[in-house]
This record gives sequence, C-alpha cells and structure tokens, in this order.
Amino acid sequence: MQSFDTIVIGAGPNGLAAAQRLASKGAKVLVLEASGAPGGGAGLAHLSYNLDPRVAKSMALAQHGLVWQQTNLATTALGTDGKHLRMQGALGATLSGDVPEKDRAAWAALRTRLLRFAAVLAPLNQMSPPRIAKDAGNPMLRLGMIALKARMMGAREFRELGRIILTNVHDLLDDELSAPLLKGALAFDATLGGWLGPRSPNSVLPWLVRLSGQTAGVQGALGLPKGGMPALGAAMAKSAEAAGVTLHCNARAARIIVEDERVAGVTLADGEEIRARRVVSAIAPKTTLLNLVGPRHLDAGLTTRARHQKSRGGAAKLSLILRALPDFRGADLTDRLLIAGSEHDVERAFNPVKYGRVPEKPGMEIMIPTAHEPGTGGMHRLTAVAQFAPHAPADRDTARAAMLAACMAQLEAHAPGISAMVQSAEILMPYDIEDQYGLPGGQWHAGELSVEQMLFLRPLPGLAQYQGPIPGLWLASAGCHPGGGVSGTPGWNAALAMEAAQ
Ligand SMILES: Cc1cc2nc3c(=O)[nH]c(=O)nc-3n(C[C@H](O)[C@H](O)[C@H](O)COP(=O)(O)OP(=O)(O)OC[C@H]3O[C@@H](n4cnc5c(N)ncnc54)[C@H](O)[C@@H]3O)c2cc1C
Repeated sequence: MQSFDTIVIGAGPNGLAAAQRLASKGAKVLVLEASGAPGGGAGLAHLSYNLDPRVAKSMALAQHGLVWQQTNLATTALGTDGKHLRMQGALGATLSGDVPEKDRAAWAALRTRLLRFAAVLAPLNQMSPPRIAKDAGNPMLRLGMIALKARMMGAREFRELGRIILTNVHDLLDDELSAPLLKGALAFDATLGGWLGPRSPNSVLPWLVRLSGQTAGVQGALGLPKGGMPALGAAMAKSAEAAGVTLHCNARAARIIVEDERVAGVTLADGEEIRARRVVSAIAPKTTLLNLVGPRHLDAGLTTRARHQKSRGGAAKLSLILRALPDFRGADLTDRLLIAGSEHDVERAFNPVKYGRVPEKPGMEIMIPTAHEPGTGGMHRLTAVAQFAPHAPADRDTARAAMLAACMAQLEAHAPGISAMVQSAEILMPYDIEDQYGLPGGQWHAGELSVEQMLFLRPLPGLAQYQGPIPGLWLASAGCHPGGGVSGTPGWNAALAMEAAQ
C-alpha cells in the first residue's frame, strides 16, 4: 500500500480544507471517511452563511464546480394571517411588510451596529487563539490589533460592544424593537444551531460570530449553491483530490495508534492499520479524545474536561418530498422562509427541550430547493431546520414522531393544505444526526458554541491551538475555534498551525 505522512480523519468541510492545504504544501495525505461519500455535514446543511473566503479562493472552489444559485437570499418571516415580513439584503437591509416606522429606524441602527461589531471580531476567526499563559508576539499582537480596532470605533461604540456581548438576545431586541415577527426572526437566527434560547445569558456573542461570516464577499449574506450545499462539499472534495489527496470512503477510524507517547497511525473499524506520523482529526474533539485516543493515553484532568465539554444539539432536520408546490400564503418560495412568530415563541420552543421534551410549536427555517432548480417528475423538495429538538429524550421513537407531527402542524398553519401534498417525510433528530454524521449530541458546532467554550477555551483549555495532547495529533473540526458551519475555517487554521509548527 501507498505510504502517507498525514492521515486526516473525516471528509467534512474541515477535513477536506485541512487536507487540501497540507497536500498543496507537499504532504502525502490520506483522508478517511466513515460514510460512503465526502462532504460530511454539508449534506445536512441547506444554505451557506460562513464559507471562509481563504478556503473558497485557495481551494479554487469555483473551478471545482461551485456555482452560486443565490448569494444574497431574502428571508420571509411568515405570519399565520398572511401578513409576512420580508427582509432583503444581508441581515435584512430592507424590510417590507407590516412593520411600525419606529421599528424600521431602530432596526436600521441596530443592524448597522451588529454588523460593525461582528466585523471587528471577524479577524479572530482566521487566527489560532493565543495561549494566554505562554504566547508572546504574533498572536497576542493580533489580538491587541483587534482590541485596538474595537477601541477605534469610539468610546460610545466600544462601551456598547462590551454591554451587548454580555447581554442576551431577548433583552437586546426588546430594548430596541416592538414588532413580534421581526423580533422572532432575529431571535431565531441568533440562536440557530445553539443550545440556548433568546433569554439565555450571553446569547448575543454566538450571534455576532454567525454574523461575522460572509457569502461572496458580503458580510451577513446567505448563499445557496447550485445543486444545494452537497455541491459545495463535492467541490471541496474535488479540490482536495486535485491537490493530490487520497480519499478513502467507507473507512471508519476506530482508534488512533499511540506508540512511545506519540501518534503512529490509525486503526480502521475493520482492523486494518495505516501508519503515519501525523494524524489530523477533523471529527469532534470529544469523540477523538475519549473514543479514538482513549483515556489511557490522556491525563485524568484532560479526560474529565473532555467528558464535561458540552455538546447538546437542539436542531432537527426535516426533509419532505411534495407532489406540488405549497402556498405559504403568497410568500416567495425562493426566499428562506422562517416560522418564528415572536421572540417568545422561540423561547417557548426551547423551554421543553431543556427537560428532554418536544416543543409544541418548533421554530423552522425552510428552504424549497426545487423553487430554484426544478426537480424531476414534477416533485418538489422542502427542507427545514427545526428548533428546538431534544437531544436526549426518554424515548427516541416517540420524540421523533412527536417532532414530525409538531413540524407538520406548524407547516399546515402557515401553508394550508401542505400535509396532503406530502409524498414522503423524514426527520432527523439530534441523536439521529449523531448516529449518521458523528456530531456528538447532534451538535451543529461539534461542541456547543457558548461563551465558556469559545476562543482559547475551545475545544478545551490547553488545546485551543489545534495541537492535540499527544505529539503528532492535531484537531481540526468545527469543535475547534471558531466553530461550525460549512466554512472550512477550523480546518484551514489547523493546517496553518501545522505549517507554523514545522
Ligand atoms: C440540523 C443541522 C443543520 C445544519 N445546517 C447548516 C446550514 O444550513 N449551513 C451551514 O453552514 N451549516 C449547517 N450546519 C452545521 C454544519 O453541518 C457543521 O458545522 C459542519 O458540517 C462541520 O464541519 P466539520 O468538517 O467540522 O464536520 P462534519 O461535517 O461533521 O464532518 C465530519 C466527517 O467525519 C466523518 N466521520 C465521523 N466519524 C468518523 C470516523 N470515526 N472515521 C472516519 N470518518 C468519520 C463523518 O461521516 C463526516 O463526514 C447544520 C448542522 C445541523 C446539525
């Protein structure tokens, strides 16, 4: 068999980004993917909000098949009475619908502020978090530059950034706005992929991280690739292979081999051993440390910290095949459609999930890909991320059936007659997502993106610079800084950290 100096575990966006970068710098890279095809969570995703511009450019994704269907999707927040709110441009630059004049002005000011604050924080995404205790020089300097940029916004804005970062989404919105649909849409967006409600402490900072992303150079814009998000994953895989990466699908890593206190390769689930001096794990850090490396190679403190890392997923994924196009009371079906009647509805959907129960009225982010690209046989597809869903209910099958029923009731309330159009329906609960995609708890970010698990605390204190606890082991998934989404950012940062360490 061919020999490799680097094995990457996981062909998700981050594994592919890291592999491509390493191969393009001369490494002989093998990527092991447990499932039958590369792309990972890109197959779960339905729109793009934070594809890393470095990754898009360096991986030449456009040359490898990425074509944008839309680079600045509009959002329609659905009202049950047909009085919708339409938000066009990045983060609702223009509002149309029944919104009080004072809300329009207040939103224009708040939107500008949120985007400005997110832009100040954006350079953090592209750097390895500094080691607080040890690092001097470059990373600390860059952190200092970001602080300086924040200060240069002026004393008032700097103070406001400090206040906003420590507050919660509900209070922030409640201070400025009154229209329930607007507040609902923003509260839904802010908590998407998290395990927190709008009233949870520190819920604004993860929102700013989300807003620091961009599509085709526009901050806060939402994109839809032609062929959907799987096409983005496929373009990344093509780019990696073009750089010389060898990709093995249906190859599940079962163990990371440790010999003489350093990494020596990977054992596959079928028992095959593949040797390499460097292993880059682009699957969740928790799984990597506790299952693939194993506590016997870790000190007791690290094992405990890994066990305590929070990875609760709250998003379910609904896929419907429909015999006809539904009518969401006149809404444009090429928009991203939101069901989140008010900020209270979003909070109420989170409350039961804390106790392992299914909410009566989940919030939903809906896409109808066949409204953009016609499908075959006159059928239509609808996908939705539904929040919140319990990751550890008492009975999985009962919870799955209840969640599907709750989602269908929500859809029926907003698009009467849709239930009768359903040819087939599938819902993946967070635990199904864990089983199929390996994200612990079905967590969007492969580990919650909460303030206490961010930056130099991500994935765990002492491991934030992508370097694992054993020589030769590197961590590169969304569980690392700066978190999830089909961005490739953690994978790219990890590859840069490996280059810097050579
Ligand atoms: C319901 C839901 C909806 C989402 N929607 C969106 C969205 O619309 N837009 C967006 O940008 N993001 C979305 N996300 C987030 C996004 O999917 C993830 O953050 C992203 O995929 C993480 O990328 P990754 O490369 O770190 O890991 P993954 O994409 O999870 O890739 C890891 C890969 O490793 C493989 N693997 C796992 N274990 C092993 C093993 N032992 N050996 C070998 N291979 C293994 C997996 O099969 C997988 O292919 C969503 C997440 C969820 C849960």
